[in-house]
Amino acid sequence: MTPEAGEALVRDRRHLHAHPELAFYEFETAAYIAERLHQWSSFRVRTGVGGTGVVADVGEGTGPVVLLRADMDALPIDEPIGAECVSQSPGRMHACGHDGHSAMLLGAAGQLHAWHTAGELGGRVRLVFQPAEEADDPEGHTGAYHLIQAGVLDEVAMAFALHVNPEAPLGVVDLWTGYAMASCDVFAGTVTGRGGHAGYPDRALDPIWLFGQVLTAIHAIVSRRVSPLDSAAVTVGRVVGGTAPNVMPDAVKVEGTLRAYSPAVRQQLAAEVDRAFQVARVLGGDYRLDIRHGEPPLRNDGRANQVLADALASLSPHVRVRRQPFGMGAEDFAYIAERVPAALAFVGCGVEGQASTLHSPAFALDEGVLPLGATWLAAAARTALARLRTGTLADNADREGGPVAW
Ligand SMILES: [Zn+2]
Ligand SMILES: [Zn+2]
Repeated sequence: MTPEAGEALVRDRRHLHAHPELAFYEFETAAYIAERLHQWSSFRVRTGVGGTGVVADVGEGTGPVVLLRADMDALPIDEPIGAECVSQSPGRMHACGHDGHSAMLLGAAGQLHAWHTAGELGGRVRLVFQPAEEADDPEGHTGAYHLIQAGVLDEVAMAFALHVNPEAPLGVVDLWTGYAMASCDVFAGTVTGRGGHAGYPDRALDPIWLFGQVLTAIHAIVSRRVSPLDSAAVTVGRVVGGTAPNVMPDAVKVEGTLRAYSPAVRQQLAAEVDRAFQVARVLGGDYRLDIRHGEPPLRNDGRANQVLADALASLSPHVRVRRQPFGMGAEDFAYIAERVPAALAFVGCGVEGQASTLHSPAFALDEGVLPLGATWLAAAARTALARLRTGTLADNADREGGPVAW
């Protein structure tokens, strides 16, 4: 990477960081990205795709397309003052590093343009700058869903994405074949009894007592119903009921989250939560339960993951690769990985001596991650194209320590 390209990466990231926009409202961000892409004549740039998405194609012919994805949205967080480049929009902050993802993909664009101009690209690449990774619309759909509906996966044979990780230092990368991030479903339930005087519980039907039994059953789902060999999390995050110490309410409202690492366990969690609520009926009460499905679990394809691993090794042999799943977070890149062979990796961006997590006002990013991510994405695209063209994709499931068998 030239010094000028390295400086442009930092400039892009700082500009995007200073001007964060929330999910579905990435208008200025998309305009900035489109303008940057227009400087490279190789790209055919489309804007307004699936909302505020920007899609840029490079390369000719009818061969397979390799897709590289970055997300663009920020979070509703107030950024503390004092950071080097602070958000200029109160109440909004790039605290999940999506500014870094977009800057890295712009950096990759420069490299892909150079290869294409020199006749060294070897196929077609599609860059996707995605809106709304962090939030869904009233129909429950995030940005990736809208982009897929708009046809961005047409002719795509393989897809890649990177996510920064402030909890790992620069130079540490996480790769995993198989299920690597969780599905995310949300449930909302109401347990109904019959309200009355708190001093005469026998004449009413206490919904708080009913919910107590339901809660015990909910908390036993992971330990008693899901196989100990599987990963899952069930959390009740909100309980609302009652108005006064001496009044028994009619109902208790409950909300919670279901997370799983496989479609089968995901289905099981939904069924088990419903079964837990049925305890209220056994005791004479009733319930209503709605489950809203979010992202599926993210499944990294072995062949795509091998491309990522080899591209990284060819660029930066000194990067330390950890073979481990990425935890119980969810990523809507999973919608893409459900449809085409795809892989996402986590790349360390932690600032030395600074404790930091994603989605926190303390989120910090070492800008040294930008050239690594940009060159890695570009190299992965070119490696994938070469292997797709020559039919030499290798599955690394055995070597990756990964094959998570369900
Ligand atoms: Zn996030
Ligand atoms: Zn994110």
